[in-house]
Amino acid sequence: MNPILVALDVDSAARAIALADDLRGAVGGFKVGKQLFTAVGPSLVKALADRGERVFLDLKFHDIPNTVAGAVSSAVATGAWMVNVHCSGGSKMMRAAAEAATNAAARLGRPRPLVIGVTVLTSLDDDALAEIGTSRPVMDQVVHLAKLAQTAGLDGVVASPLETAAIRAACGPAFAIVTPGIRAAADVGKDDQARTLTAAQAVTAGATYLVIGRPITGAGSPRAAAEQIAGDLG
Ligand code: C5P
Repeated sequence: MNPILVALDVDSAARAIALADDLRGAVGGFKVGKQLFTAVGPSLVKALADRGERVFLDLKFHDIPNTVAGAVSSAVATGAWMVNVHCSGGSKMMRAAAEAATNAAARLGRPRPLVIGVTVLTSLDDDALAEIGTSRPVMDQVVHLAKLAQTAGLDGVVASPLETAAIRAACGPAFAIVTPGIRAAADVGKDDQARTLTAAQAVTAGATYLVIGRPITGAGSPRAAAEQIAGDLG
């Protein structure tokens, strides 16, 4: 499939639907995150899913296992194709999320969504990890949490382009790696994304899916931008 998941980082259903209409068939799916979800709620996820779009519901659940299981069950009911949880919620929580996805999908007669773990937020560096009591460097902690996620039954992790190759090596070929921080070659290293790669570099490093926001949504023609990136991937 087309690995591009477009981040719908807008604040209204109308803008999200307009982007989805423009990009229909040119990308592999859409990411609905906290901004859009908090503004418009699950109806938009349902609307996109009912149109046959793959929706990555990026709400990064992190709570006690029972609560996360309930949230994942509710996500299955929206028709989301991918959901995510924080690995730092622990094995028990991740296992509860994976089991809830399986059980809710069976109960509702829906496809089981992929359940993906967030390892270490890319906004955290070694000092920030030390501050919250984690002595491992970021890269070691990322690989540690990715392996823990895999053992707990998750389908993959979100990872920065810099971490992708190490996770691929540690977790094998079948583990999904979802990579944001994608930029056109001329823009690598610009704006607020400190760690960036081009789409082709990220796929070469082992990414399964690419989350791309502004390089597509901020382009004069989002569809032309998406087609160009997909074309670069061959
Ligand atoms: O516009 P841009 O391509 O930077 O958007 C990337 C998307 O991926 C945003 O929705 C951002 O919140 C998300 N993301 C990220 N880095 C992470 C996790 C998620 O940029 N580590």
